[in-house]
Amino acid sequence: MITAEEIYKQLRFLYPYEEPWDNNGILIGNPDKKITSVSIAIDPTFDIINLCNTDMLITHHPLIFNPIKKTNKLIHKLIQEDITYMALHTPLDYSDQANIVFCNYMDLNYNYFNTFKNGDGGQIGVIYQDRDDINNIANKYKAMCKLSKPLPLYNAKHISNIDIEIVGFIQGAANSFLNEIIESNIDLLVTGEISHHNIIELRDNDILVMLLGHTPSELFLKTALYDSLGSLDLNLDIEILADDSNNIFVGVK
Ligand SMILES: [Zn+2]
Repeated sequence: MITAEEIYKQLRFLYPYEEPWDNNGILIGNPDKKITSVSIAIDPTFDIINLCNTDMLITHHPLIFNPIKKTNKLIHKLIQEDITYMALHTPLDYSDQANIVFCNYMDLNYNYFNTFKNGDGGQIGVIYQDRDDINNIANKYKAMCKLSKPLPLYNAKHISNIDIEIVGFIQGAANSFLNEIIESNIDLLVTGEISHHNIIELRDNDILVMLLGHTPSELFLKTALYDSLGSLDLNLDIEILADDSNNIFVGVK
């Protein structure tokens, strides 16, 4: 049987890049615990921890990110249930597997795309050619992100020609890649979230912005992590926990 720490090491071998400000690894529980079953989710919410009945929970967003002075009910619950907790944040964002799964969902040729670079060897998102109608492009993203409401499209009124040729996608928040987005010559940026100030700057560069919501834009990362864990052949039972976007992104009329 494999330990929690060894699972982390093997995943980091597949996902070598991370941002220096990030917090990844075994954050709660015994790193030497023997693991036979793992659950995967995007957000470490109380609902997700309640759903988890495996030895280990891995979430994309870290439960402990800023320094904490005392524990909270989520940490208590993990300790009480003896669930070892791992965060895998920017290493998963910057993984090849994330891009492979994204291309599968969007029916793109994996060998024919570019990415946004963080200047440190890390790469995120996909830049690809799609001359489709903007509504058809939106429908493909809604299917991948399990969204049914209309998606907000910014800058359309200020850009005379909204014929799409090149699309750029960045899951989660795109703010730290603003320069790369502008230099990439895309017509449309699709992302989870980006600041108002940056949307205005993209308007001045004739780039449309379509917003998916942060967690919906990252749901496909659960499949990427599931596939990577499976490829390691560690004899683990792996479970993807329920669609955690439903609790976060509810449309109103
Ligand atoms: Zn995120």
